[in-house]
Amino acid sequence: SVVVEHLSKTFGAADALHSTNLAIASGEFVVIIGPSGCGKSTLLRLIAGLETPSAGRIEIGGRDVTAVEPADRGIAMVFQSYALYPHLSVAQNIAFPLRMAKLPKQVIADKVAAVAATLELEALLDRRPSTLSGGQRQRVSIARAIVRDPAVLLLDEPLSNLDTALRVRMRHEIARLHQRLGATMIYVTHDQVEAMTLANRIVVMAQGRIEQVGAPLDLYRAPTSIRVAAAIGSPA
Ligand code: ATP
Ligand code: MG
Repeated sequence: SVVVEHLSKTFGAADALHSTNLAIASGEFVVIIGPSGCGKSTLLRLIAGLETPSAGRIEIGGRDVTAVEPADRGIAMVFQSYALYPHLSVAQNIAFPLRMAKLPKQVIADKVAAVAATLELEALLDRRPSTLSGGQRQRVSIARAIVRDPAVLLLDEPLSNLDTALRVRMRHEIARLHQRLGATMIYVTHDQVEAMTLANRIVVMAQGRIEQVGAPLDLYRAPTSIRVAAAIGSPA
């Protein structure tokens, strides 16, 4: 589970996130949508520990992690830009979090092989990221994120750089991955179809606040504001 309470983040005078409350159950798939600049990435980065809150607290799996180092939070994050290490092979990229955790060589090799099989990367393990397609790079970044079996997987617009056909395929892969891992997923997107099809619940944000939270069809049928209707694509 992931619980944030009165979570705020200000950058100078700007309110990126304003006293936000949200409780996400274990294994739940939550999609966050909302216009550019409304605080989606800030919320994810706070949960990941990549930003320090200005106020409020964060609980993961019942433990207060507000002051816990990112690597010790049991979370992993997939970035829009992939953020792969260019000088490392695919296998070394995937192995990186395990090497940082100083696991034995054989454990690392087995784990990399298993994750590569899950994401159909076996044939690409010796390649450098620069020689891969966008979809292949994104699969590598997802493989690296799940290699330590995170209880919580954060994905920040993971498919936005891909063409339409690949996006549809990766969307199905992400749904399958969620079923397989049983991890809690928090997924930021601008894509209404991704939100409607992947989410157990959708969180609609606007200007640093949560505007409405609910099951996809409930939000679609009963948006409480024009902003939510626009974000979900409800008929006007
Ligand atoms: P997008 O859909 O474009 O990715 P977002 O919803 O992810 O937008 P955030 O990146 O969370 O938006 O940014 C929220 C607000 O905080 C924006 O006004 C942004 O300019 C501001 N902001 C984010 N990071 C910083 C930073 N490091 N320094 C100053 N302001 C920041
Ligand atoms: Mg963002």
